[in-house]
Amino acid sequence: MATALSYPQKALHKLGLVRDIDLALHLPLRYEDETRISHLRDAREGELLQIEATVTACQVIARPRRQLLVTVDDGSDACVLRFFTYYPSMQKALAVGARLRIRGEVRGGRAGWTMMHPTFKAAGGELPKALTPVYPTVAGLPQAYLRKAVLGGLARADLSDTFPTGDTAWKVAWSGWGLRDALSFLHQPASDEALAALEDRSHPAWQRLKAEELLAQQLSQLQAKRGRDALQAPRLQPSPCAAGEVGLAEKLLAALPFALTAAQRRVNTEIAHDLTRAVPMHRLLQGDVGSGKTVLAALAAALCIDAGWQCALMAPTEILAQQHFSKLIAWLEPLGIRTAWLTGSQKTKERRAMLALIASGEAALVVGTHAVIQDKVQFRNLALAIIDEQHRFGVAQRLALRNKMNLTSESSPGGGRVAKVANDKHEQDEAGAQLHPHLLMMTATPIPRTLAMSYYADLEVSTLDELPPGRTPIITKLVHDRRRDQVIERIRAQITQGRQVYWVCPLIEESESLDLANATQTHLELSAALRDPVAPVTVGLLHSRMSTGEKRAVMSQFTAGQLQVLVSTTVIEVGVDVPNASLMIVEHAERFGLSQLHQLRGRVGRGAAASACVLLYSTGDAPRLAETARERLKAMVDTGDGFEIARRDLEIRGPGEFLGARQSGAALLRFADLNTDTALLEWARIMAPKMLDQYPELARRHIDRWLGGKAEYLKA
Ligand code: ADP
Ligand code: MG
Repeated sequence: MATALSYPQKALHKLGLVRDIDLALHLPLRYEDETRISHLRDAREGELLQIEATVTACQVIARPRRQLLVTVDDGSDACVLRFFTYYPSMQKALAVGARLRIRGEVRGGRAGWTMMHPTFKAAGGELPKALTPVYPTVAGLPQAYLRKAVLGGLARADLSDTFPTGDTAWKVAWSGWGLRDALSFLHQPASDEALAALEDRSHPAWQRLKAEELLAQQLSQLQAKRGRDALQAPRLQPSPCAAGEVGLAEKLLAALPFALTAAQRRVNTEIAHDLTRAVPMHRLLQGDVGSGKTVLAALAAALCIDAGWQCALMAPTEILAQQHFSKLIAWLEPLGIRTAWLTGSQKTKERRAMLALIASGEAALVVGTHAVIQDKVQFRNLALAIIDEQHRFGVAQRLALRNKMNLTSESSPGGGRVAKVANDKHEQDEAGAQLHPHLLMMTATPIPRTLAMSYYADLEVSTLDELPPGRTPIITKLVHDRRRDQVIERIRAQITQGRQVYWVCPLIEESESLDLANATQTHLELSAALRDPVAPVTVGLLHSRMSTGEKRAVMSQFTAGQLQVLVSTTVIEVGVDVPNASLMIVEHAERFGLSQLHQLRGRVGRGAAASACVLLYSTGDAPRLAETARERLKAMVDTGDGFEIARRDLEIRGPGEFLGARQSGAALLRFADLNTDTALLEWARIMAPKMLDQYPELARRHIDRWLGGKAEYLKA
């Protein structure tokens, strides 16, 4: 019979500490040394001390603040203990003459030592032999309870080694500690251990844990990848009737007003090659803002459509989807490709018409927002799904897109039959195996190498490392908000030259209305400041509260050059492409993340004109900017290279931000640090395939031990 969980047990579950192994792997944040009694005489300012002393005075004083003051003497010096909150029972325990063991931070130096709210108990009693671990915890879960639970878990858990330690090749590659030893040690290190090596996690016991964790991550990704490689996808080869003719992709290339860069040609070949294989593509295309990813999406779509299949392109925002839509229409419709458009804000009638086009297969290309993956949408034969700004989408959404293709090879266009849609994912047609679509994910947030090697190890990665020619580098300036007037002068100068300007207002967390007020205010201010009777200046406003239609109208006015300045909240963050815009002002730049600033900056410098980005910052009431904000802004001025920016961002913020939705599925690394543990990461990357091939049972146990049920998410 199941018994109800106690409160601390619930808290344990909240921390994910369910299995014995979870408890055993819950490692201390730091340690306290309770193995020794120190003397006040030897104390240093700020030191955490354990002393044994006798109470010489105990009184409550009312001013300046009510508190309990207890004076103790350990024979070498005296110390005052201060308690701002206290209970009557404490006064009894702290009565004059009592002998106590006291732990706390000493302050005050020569003026006389004090401890604020030290912990205390009766003196005497045995001293622990090991350092006392302090665990990460949550409210309602006392350290003492957690310690006991962890030690229990440690004793019960199966800690048999999953590294094939009997294998000599492994022995050479891994000469470190065993798992059981490492864990026992980390939970109860001997008192004479160097605390520094424990706390900065360079100790060999820590190395073992990090190696375990990184290996688990590599194994699970490799497994996910191999699982996918066993699936079938349609080979996207030109349909037989088109043989001899020039393919759609070639036609598109010939019609483009520019030639592909070398990087684009290389990536195009990589994608095209994947599409001809009978294994689903799972490729991430990363390229800095403006590197020209859209045309590669169009070329992949052309290949897919030429082979007789449907292609879907999904973008995270309506504006971005709209941009793609108009660009792709301009490129593909002249080639006779029919395109459908799907968004959440569509009128029912229009949507119904689009759904019919998609279901019948008349629309070979479908562009849209999340609306593309809704249940109602039925493709005739989807073979390629392209996701722009992939980190904006969740795992569930990517899975949904993948599952849009519940088709069997029966529906292959070569067969000339009407698509047979399998309702049950597992249903298989006797004539053909279940087919899965190819997936191309695009991102303008470059992924630092170590991150690509770890969290994205299951993906093929293509990189556009070259910008199209004719771009002038963007000059970035930091300007204090006090000098706003100069910035407005700059805007005027750009407008006089016929250029356009973006002014981005920050998103104020949790307050859309403040946000709006701020953008509206700036809009008024700029409209007034730029008023010119001779050459009228029009300032537009774009914010998240506007209807899609309104947004679209403003965007197209700006694109058409009818607005000289566009004030907006961060809705323009991704993908917007107006080559005539040459100046970007970001207000309260200190509130933005580094990658976000880089994305924003990428909205200018798209044409031939020299472009600039002004990062307006404000220090508020503080005398200077916070350290991390300063680092971010400095990085922006220092470099325009998206990869360098991403690397610094990883350093400043850790991997969470890069992973977007991926982090909710794949467990974040708890122990290993991608900035410092690159050698171990390399090791894990080499060992994972060997382990999976030679020791599949150990690999299975290893993954299970570390990831439990979480590995599933990696499949998206
Ligand atoms: P992003 O990678 O940020 O999505 P886009 O695909 O929007 O970049 O491309 C940015 C701009 O560069 C677009 O106007 C696009 O038409 C143009 N472009 C793309 N490739 C080339 C090229 N090889 N030569 C010149 N312009 C190009
Ligand atoms: Mg783009």
